[in-house]
Amino acid sequence: MEELAPRAKSLIERGINPSLTVLLVGDDPASQVYVKNKVKACQRLGIRSTVARLPSGTPEPELLGKIDQLNADPTVHAVLVQLPLPKGYDEGRVVRRVDPAKDVDVFHPVNAGKLLLGDPGLEPCTPKGIIALLDGIGCAIAGKHAVVVGRSNIVGKPIALMLLRRHATVTVCHSRTPDLAAVTRQADILVAAVGRAGLITGDMVKPGAVVIDVGVNRVEGSKKLYGDVDFDSASRVAGAITPVPGGVGPMTIAMLMMNTLEAAEACST
Ligand code: NDP
Repeated sequence: MEELAPRAKSLIERGINPSLTVLLVGDDPASQVYVKNKVKACQRLGIRSTVARLPSGTPEPELLGKIDQLNADPTVHAVLVQLPLPKGYDEGRVVRRVDPAKDVDVFHPVNAGKLLLGDPGLEPCTPKGIIALLDGIGCAIAGKHAVVVGRSNIVGKPIALMLLRRHATVTVCHSRTPDLAAVTRQADILVAAVGRAGLITGDMVKPGAVVIDVGVNRVEGSKKLYGDVDFDSASRVAGAITPVPGGVGPMTIAMLMMNTLEAAEACST
């Protein structure tokens, strides 16, 4: 992440103070930790961060009004609504209210559409972090068979598109995929974004494959975080594998910082 410091500095020197506002509704403990980590990352780079806290019973129109206010504020370059929202909100409607130019989580249909079409624009943080990880270890993507397990709008679909754009042959698996292991065993690059602790075991991994574990799972009775990949068995077979915690999580935050800087840079041009 430190590579981003010069970009932040250059903006500040030009009189633009890059800034991210996180909207946090309610008091979900996991969300509080995620928000704290985002604020810390901003501090490390000199990005101004604000956490707008709203109590969980805040009426949705009030929340939407707050987003409108941030959209209109020229000193705010990036706006993020921390998910999940408490029950009772229309999450889709809320995240779509963020101005696409400030939508650093890349949930707005305009940004999702640009990603689909391959147009330049903000890219979602977790998939962008995965691509950066693959590039960072010198993993050639073109021509490889990439298998993505999970088809969410946040991770599975966008990483599939981004791997496709980099000329991988991409297979997307989900809960209705029969014989998952037969598919994952074909993967040169295996991305697990499921939300099931230890679903991918060593016998489901092709020897030498690069395994990216996106999962962050809590297991009852344990304080540890678990990935979607059973690290012990998979690491014996894989050529490279990301750990949980570590790996994709910190990269996601680094990419959020990058998107914030990109949004600030775009405002200044
Ligand atoms: P979702 O719950 O939105 O999607 C899960 C996907 O996994 C769905 O497409 C589902 O299929 C599929 N799935 C569920 N069970 C199986 C199964 N047994 N076999 C094959 N596919 C299955 O999750 P997210 O994409 O939001 O998140 C996935 C994981 O990644 C979670 O653990 C989350 O916490 C973590 N995460 C981590 C981030 C990070 O920064 N490290 C960022 C974002 C997420 P179907 O569509 O058919 O239901």
